[in-house]
Amino acid sequence: MIIEDTPAEAAVKAGPDILEITAEGSRFVEAPELKGKLVDDTIAVLRAKYGKKAGIFCIGPAGEMMMYSAGIASPDDDDVQLRYAARGGLGALMGSKGFKAIVVDDKGSTYKAPVYDRELLQETSRWMAEALLKDPKTENRNTYGTSAILALANTSGLMPTRNFSSGSFEKADDIAGERVRKEILSRGGQAGKPCVAGCVIKCSNVFPDKNGRQIVASLQYESITLLGSNCGIASLDDIAELNHLCNQVGVDSIETGAAIGVAMEAGIIEFGDAEGAKDLVRQIGQGTWLGRIIGHGAKLTGRVAGIRRIPVIKGQAIPGYDPRGVKGNGVTYITSPMGADHTAGNAFETLKYMDVLKRDGQVAISRKLQIRAALLDTLGLCLFVRPPFVNRPEQFGNLLKGRYGWDLSFRDVQLLAWDTIKTEREFNSRAGVSEEFCPIPEFMEDEPLPPKNAVFDVEMDEMRKMWEGGFTPLDEF
Ligand code: SF4
Repeated sequence: MIIEDTPAEAAVKAGPDILEITAEGSRFVEAPELKGKLVDDTIAVLRAKYGKKAGIFCIGPAGEMMMYSAGIASPDDDDVQLRYAARGGLGALMGSKGFKAIVVDDKGSTYKAPVYDRELLQETSRWMAEALLKDPKTENRNTYGTSAILALANTSGLMPTRNFSSGSFEKADDIAGERVRKEILSRGGQAGKPCVAGCVIKCSNVFPDKNGRQIVASLQYESITLLGSNCGIASLDDIAELNHLCNQVGVDSIETGAAIGVAMEAGIIEFGDAEGAKDLVRQIGQGTWLGRIIGHGAKLTGRVAGIRRIPVIKGQAIPGYDPRGVKGNGVTYITSPMGADHTAGNAFETLKYMDVLKRDGQVAISRKLQIRAALLDTLGLCLFVRPPFVNRPEQFGNLLKGRYGWDLSFRDVQLLAWDTIKTEREFNSRAGVSEEFCPIPEFMEDEPLPPKNAVFDVEMDEMRKMWEGGFTPLDEF
């Protein structure tokens, strides 16, 4: 389904619509009662109307106001967690089309997705699950969630701190994975929760307050660093509440944490002022002028405030890995179609096998990581399922053969990823977005990042040539 154009101004003023997809087809349903509602309130109204089993995607007031940091929320199966298509302003796009929610309700449908070879599909899926359960990373992620990496990010000097002025936070122990787990378990929350049925890694969690009442689900590394250390905030309760507020007004917690960090640098509030930060997020939902500025993200906030140190690439806030502290990520941020997106090719793992502060080799490693990430994304797999495929990359072909009957080698599957990257780059090129147009923020080339005191110094010329020469298959995954 492709939705084109925007509704007339009068229709937008009257209130948003729901895009309803059912066994009978799809249609827009007027829903003025959802206008301006927070995400949880929106879901409650939709549950009452469509029941427990309907699939729901919705935006908060930030999306309705077409703010650049607005995302699209989706509750998990038991309405405990909110997961987000958070980055890139998709919520603003949805808001611009005049609809507040997409509801998929298959009641009455007899359609079953065809499976070419059920036995092969099940056998390959079983192999994947068993191999994942044997991988030590699975236990680590299950135990500590994505914040398992926080202590290493901090000691490696790459964790955004006080608007990217340091790579290390003196109160990191208060917000690290071990502390997250301790608080969750002592307060009766839940660690090791899946975000989708069938996941064996289960890296999500439910983070409660001191009385055992849920604050947010799930609390993750990126939100902890951007809303925490990057804002000088060291209380997990405050960070969780900030994360919850972002989820409710419907904005990306990475972009919002970066925008608040910029606002703190500008003196709008002080670093460490958790209550001030919460007020700014509430103002996003209320649509005050200051809230609208913050809700448009770090770039606009920095420009309006007259700040030189704005941590964005291609207009998008840099996530929890400062590019001076892990240069492969800087290359990914500059050369990937989405800009500052760690999921496009995260070089954090290269801490284990290369010097992440040297510029040599970073372009080659980022290229490999980007093809890998595009492959998993294209197949609709979580990025964390990679380990079993390292030794048996041909299993990608078996998954696709089982489901669709296609005969694809590992090389063929990589071509799918390559095609995705090419298409996205072509889109950018037609939109006038290039590496040179949106380079690394100048301060990251000039200002050494404590405690390792590195600057970002990978040559633009080398990065520009990254995708030249067409497709070269990876010999390993
Ligand atoms: S699908 Fe991925 S993100 Fe979700 S719980 Fe499993 S490992 Fe975590």
